[in-house]
Amino acid sequence: MMRFAIGIDIGGTKMLAALGDERGNLLAEMACSTHNVHGGEAGVTELVEAVAVKAGLRPQDAAAIGVGAPGPMDLATGTLLNPPNLGWGTVPIRQLILDRFGVPTMLTNDCKAAGYGEFRFGAGRGTQNMVYLGIGTGIGGCVIIGGQVYVGATGNAGEIGHTVIALDGPLCGCGARGCLEALASGSALGRLGQEAAATSGGQLLALVNGDVKAITGAHVAQAAAQGDPVAQGVFNYAIRGLGAGVGNVMNAFGPERVVLGGGVVAKNGSGYVKRVEEATQGFTLRGCGVPVVAAELGERSGVLGALAHAWEQARTHK
Ligand SMILES: [Zn+2]
Repeated sequence: MMRFAIGIDIGGTKMLAALGDERGNLLAEMACSTHNVHGGEAGVTELVEAVAVKAGLRPQDAAAIGVGAPGPMDLATGTLLNPPNLGWGTVPIRQLILDRFGVPTMLTNDCKAAGYGEFRFGAGRGTQNMVYLGIGTGIGGCVIIGGQVYVGATGNAGEIGHTVIALDGPLCGCGARGCLEALASGSALGRLGQEAAATSGGQLLALVNGDVKAITGAHVAQAAAQGDPVAQGVFNYAIRGLGAGVGNVMNAFGPERVVLGGGVVAKNGSGYVKRVEEATQGFTLRGCGVPVVAAELGERSGVLGALAHAWEQARTHK
């Protein structure tokens, strides 16, 4: 029988599973709702079971299982600490899977899984040093140094979304002001768009029939692309913020390239990534500027990264 591992990516709306070998060749993939009829955490073990059955294998025979999930989490025990995006409460996910299947399991932050997936199988292939930013509802980061995900002494390093770009800037969900996430995430675009439209009007209001509260990041991107100056002001500010944030990352870590993924990048495409790359030029020291590229694996970067993490786990348990 071939050796296989399983990766699981738990998102706010759906969960993905991938079963494959050490080189990322997949035998089976599955997706299901995060809020399925059996309740979230039971759904995780069911999904593990289902993807194995689909490949004609038994989950008990997996070399390892890797799980990526939104934080906060206790990495040492593999426990989800009531992530607000899931509404599952506190779930000892590693123990749950270990008890059920007896397979070594590791839990990681969803954005670190996505970054690792891009590093191994996507836009970061061939590098040893890479930084990934996932730009969606929030902004997550994954720093890879010497081929390894850098987590620091605390296990939490790489939170690039919470580096401060603008002192006294907009309030962030973390409680600080002016974080990159508070300037340039999808939800920041929506919130800053609402504020700008409320004072300056413009095409944004027309897109939502005057309902300011209905303005989202997608509306801001759309109105900006159509030439609305109010939306362009918000969008350009976010791009400059990303230029500063990504430029800081280049200066601090010296990666070979920076990979941008997440929903905002998927929606706005390569032109957006190019603009972020250009914006870094005002913030990088001489010799520190490197290419900024778009993620290549789409919504599968997280599940493929979880699979790669599972293989790491299998190697350390040999
Ligand atoms: Zn923050």
